[in-house]
Amino acid sequence: MNKNYEFLLKDISKLKNIGKKTATILKKKNINSIFDMLWRLPQSFTDRTNISKIKNLNIGKISTIEIIPLKYNFPRIRNLPNKVICEDDTGKIDCIFFNSYEGYIKKILPLNEKITISGKISYFKNRYQITNPTYLSKDKNLIKKVHNKYSLTEGITEKKYNYIIGQILENLPNLEEWLSPNILKLFNNLGWKESVIKLHDYKNIGNHSSKHFRRLAFDEILSSLIVFSEIRKSIKKNKKNKKIFFNKYEKKTIKNFGFNLTKDQIKTLNEINLDLSSKTKMFRILQGDVGSGKTIVALLSSLNVIESGYQVAFMSPTEILANQHYNLAKKIFPSEINLELFTGKTNNSIKRKIISNLQNSKINMIFGTHSLFQKRTIFNKLGFIIIDEQHKFGVKQRKLLSDKGGSNCDILLMSATPIPRTLTMTIYGDMDLSIINEKPKNRKEIITYSKKEDNIKDVIDFVKKEIYNKNQIFWVCPLIDESKKIDHQSAIQKFNSLNKLFPSRVAIIHSKIDQDKKNSILEDFLKKKFDILVSTTIIEVGIDFPNANVIVIENSNKFGLSQLHQLRGRVGRGNNQGKCILMFKNNLSENAKKRIKILKNSNNGFIISEEDMKLRGSGDILGFKQSGEKKFNLADPVLHEDLFRVAENEVKRIEIEEINLSKYKMLLKLYDRADIINDLV
Ligand code: ADP
Ligand code: MG
Repeated sequence: MNKNYEFLLKDISKLKNIGKKTATILKKKNINSIFDMLWRLPQSFTDRTNISKIKNLNIGKISTIEIIPLKYNFPRIRNLPNKVICEDDTGKIDCIFFNSYEGYIKKILPLNEKITISGKISYFKNRYQITNPTYLSKDKNLIKKVHNKYSLTEGITEKKYNYIIGQILENLPNLEEWLSPNILKLFNNLGWKESVIKLHDYKNIGNHSSKHFRRLAFDEILSSLIVFSEIRKSIKKNKKNKKIFFNKYEKKTIKNFGFNLTKDQIKTLNEINLDLSSKTKMFRILQGDVGSGKTIVALLSSLNVIESGYQVAFMSPTEILANQHYNLAKKIFPSEINLELFTGKTNNSIKRKIISNLQNSKINMIFGTHSLFQKRTIFNKLGFIIIDEQHKFGVKQRKLLSDKGGSNCDILLMSATPIPRTLTMTIYGDMDLSIINEKPKNRKEIITYSKKEDNIKDVIDFVKKEIYNKNQIFWVCPLIDESKKIDHQSAIQKFNSLNKLFPSRVAIIHSKIDQDKKNSILEDFLKKKFDILVSTTIIEVGIDFPNANVIVIENSNKFGLSQLHQLRGRVGRGNNQGKCILMFKNNLSENAKKRIKILKNSNNGFIISEEDMKLRGSGDILGFKQSGEKKFNLADPVLHEDLFRVAENEVKRIEIEEINLSKYKMLLKLYDRADIINDLV
């Protein structure tokens, strides 16, 4: 492989005229290599190409003139600026310098030499002037140009930044093309280098659908999907022992349910069972809306693993949830199966016993939080790890996880966060995907209302009625000010006012309350010890509160659609009709009305997240920013949806035709977003 791409991976400080200071500033903005610098795009530009005569200058306009400095005027009085009187053949202009040394001024404006200078023209005491000019040179070609404006990093001038970028663009290597001809055709055969240069051309500012932009976006997508495909392959390379089962326990347990599995539950269960009984390791994500019945699917597949003589670990994000899953399994599993719960709260002597029983395989399945995977817990024959409601694992963490548990261990992740296809490809591309779209038949759709805050009285009356009918209410208050992290204040205020109306029937949880206390409050709510639970957005995902059927969400325009959908999914999980009241501060904007309409019209998380992404961009969907993935610089799951599909097909072709990756090595080296490929290729 030609090594000329290495220039791009050089540290930014290796460029000419970048000092320590500039390098530090850039690095603070996550620009470490020369390559990183390419993706900060110009925002606007200043055209300094036309040379004006002084007599034609317009005040307030940025102009370029050719002048001859005539005389220095360096007053000895503090606070008075230094001045250089200059002229062209049509008039005079003063260059004014605040805080500049005389020596410097003499150097940049030597007397009686022609200088090209560009800046904003002002007028003072009957004279044109330019203050603190930075664009000036004896070489007019350096000034007579269009100068791009980048979203500047404090401490680096526009001129300096342009100089750095200019230097990089001039030295861009010619890279061997990695795209195949029929793909390249989609982008008018524009090569990588040519495209990058166009990217920084002021004529193309803001154009995200031009061929060069799309080509470069495609490079990002393709590299990411190839990396995922490699991770997949490396996982599948590990041959495991097939799990052999006869669905005996599974059938028995389904009978215990009292309801039929939905079509999608059956479909996904089959997909999982196929993986379990195959020779390759399962690495699969089960996606489905809240309440779509993922837990049952996971539990049923566990039974098959147990039947084939392996142990199962079921990890939940919180203790309450672990508890709930454990209790459900106890209720529906055949009694001969040994289940245990292992959380931070489990006392030490029981813990020791559990640990020893895991080692001697007396325990078939264990439920718990991340504490399940301490060093101390050693399984005798772990065959299946299930991880519930976890969307904050990055690619690397998942890869680690898949290595855990040894070669015979299958992995299933569950996510109640339906996300659009393109986003799934970007985030979970390393995993196989099972989707539950259809919800259990008896599930009633949640009815969604919107109310102005001024009409709070109506809401209170409504809540009174619900409480009278023995229902429970969630009352959610959002973060008021993200930057100050005062998320609990509005919740506390709400609690105080509701507590006056419903004395000792209200409780509150927020982030400042410690975990044990939170758990006990949630358990009390489950046991109906009070009627209204005021909270910030921390209401735990996944827990069933069968008796809570109303959720009031304050200030709801602060939330994204997906988050609102996720929140309202807390209610209506029992037999009662779920109701969601979205409260708004002011009159609704058109956009807000649109959003409510989407929520009112659909109870399908996949549709809602798709709409959410269109309205807010992909980064905002339910904290995926925190998922540890680096974001694309150019590619956008909404704008470039078609490119995701092209890339997906291309990667399939690479897989099927077993195309040697050496062709893509350069692409991967440059773009590897997960820093993962080095271990693989
Ligand atoms: P998820 O984890 O996908 O949010 P759960 O598995 O917790 O959903 O299921 C939500 C509720 O629906 C539970 O009370 C569960 O018992 C019930 N449920 C699951 N599958 C079915 C089904 N096929 N028919 C009726 N109810 C179901
Ligand atoms: Mg769940």
